[in-house]
Amino acid sequence: MKKTALITGANKSIGFETARQLLAAGYKVFIGSRDAVKGETAVNELKAAGFDDVEAIVLEVTDAGSISYAAEELSGKIPHLDVLVNNAGIPGTYPQDGSNVTQENLKAVFETNFFAVIAVTQAFLPLLRKSDAPRIVNVSSDLGSLGFNADPQSRHYEVKLAAYNSSKAALNMYSVVLAYELRDTCFKVNSVNPGYTATDFNNHTGYKTVEAAAAPIVKYATTGDDGPTGKFFSDYGDTPW
Ligand code: NAP
Repeated sequence: MKKTALITGANKSIGFETARQLLAAGYKVFIGSRDAVKGETAVNELKAAGFDDVEAIVLEVTDAGSISYAAEELSGKIPHLDVLVNNAGIPGTYPQDGSNVTQENLKAVFETNFFAVIAVTQAFLPLLRKSDAPRIVNVSSDLGSLGFNADPQSRHYEVKLAAYNSSKAALNMYSVVLAYELRDTCFKVNSVNPGYTATDFNNHTGYKTVEAAAAPIVKYATTGDDGPTGKFFSDYGDTPW
């Protein structure tokens, strides 16, 4: 039987391209999309490109009801889930300086980028535990690196977004915490930074293509039994926490 993968926020951009690359690698892929029509449109585009084993699943990651419905739906369709990519994320609104970030903005960003990842992961863990090689990739950002943020030589030094950067730093801690809990199992749990990528997320100001951005995500989603766990990677390798 084919390996199976679920990607949140896969109706477009980096999530969609991650789906395409996992399909090309022979996986059966579920496109998580909060909007049913956008999910079906993405599936149709992938089918038109020659990929048959792809389905949409409605998943609003900040909605507990949507998460549990999706988890139930997926367990009715597949015996095990091999890959979960927690990709859905938001930048928040601006300004985001330490002195002026609003509670509303902080809470909204943390809701999607942090709390929702934990809720989705916990809901799909039972199906992931049925896999003999479960992989979880939390799509993070180098902007969440405390090391880069504290280093005046880093090219990220001046991008200080109080809500977004903090949410990805928190997400990285969750990757470490979960990887530790699952250290004696066949799970691999890693954070991956796709890099600054031209998508709607940043009005297409990023310099990377979605193909290049998805590559490290797919690499760690498909890592072997001797692969790493509890780490933070970019396409250039280890990334400072
Ligand atoms: P994007 O173009 O804005 O796409 C985001 C995806 O997430 C969309 O499918 C969106 O759905 C979905 N999403 C957002 N909130 C959701 C929710 N509550 N429930 C379900 N789906 C939700 O962003 P992207 O550039 O592909 O970014 C993907 C991931 O990479 C994010 O986690 C981001 O933080 C990270 N990242 C991006 C960059 C970059 O430069 N682009 C750099 C580093 C890290 P809708 O279409 O319905 O809005």
